[in-house]
Amino acid sequence: MAIVIAIDGPAGAGKSTIARRLARRLGYTYIDTGAMYRAVALWAIRQSVELSDMHRLDQLAQAADIQLDSTRDLVILNGEDVTLAIRAEDVSAAASQVAAVPAVRRALVLKQRALAETQNVVMEGRDIGTVVFPNARLKIYMDADPGERTRRRATEAGADLESVREQISERDRRDQTRGDSPLAQAPDALYLDTTDLTLEEVEEEILKMVRARTSNGKEHS
Ligand code: C5P
Repeated sequence: MAIVIAIDGPAGAGKSTIARRLARRLGYTYIDTGAMYRAVALWAIRQSVELSDMHRLDQLAQAADIQLDSTRDLVILNGEDVTLAIRAEDVSAAASQVAAVPAVRRALVLKQRALAETQNVVMEGRDIGTVVFPNARLKIYMDADPGERTRRRATEAGADLESVREQISERDRRDQTRGDSPLAQAPDALYLDTTDLTLEEVEEEILKMVRARTSNGKEHS
């Protein structure tokens, strides 16, 4: 298996930005697993599938052809560019509901594992270090205080603080309390609080750890 760097954490902790930069620096492929849950949620909304209909959601997750074009930063669902569509507010909320369905997770985890068979990856999500790749070369649990996470998301989305605060806390609650693969820090993951760090500082910190774990291609565990 290729080298996997797993980055997990709650919404707005800075995972996507950092994972994308790291991948570029290392020459690895960046994989945003949240985009996959979002793509299934978007399809479900468009098909008017009830988010409680586990059977239909399972079918959609299995049938979904999701391509992550990491070079151009595009998410393609069944041949259509849905990069922007999956960032809509209703899709964010639906994604965390769809992600609580075990059959959906099973289908997407298979796709995620397949992606790391042939290429080194920086994979970002909620359960990468705990479930998808428990033997990842390096696991980071990235966190920041809720106020800072809200500010970052609101700036990114151009939305008002109050509504973002509510959305994030509802989504985190759902992600942390679901029965299947809840958001949690793997016991062997390095905890990184990014509240008071700049992007560059976070990137350098993780790069140091990556280099320590991949020197001469040897495992240090
Ligand atoms: O990372 P992002 O916020 O785009 O993810 C959207 C939703 O997808 C999360 O709120 C979570 O419910 C779900 N997700 C997940 N497991 C992952 C990645 C995302 O459950 N590995």
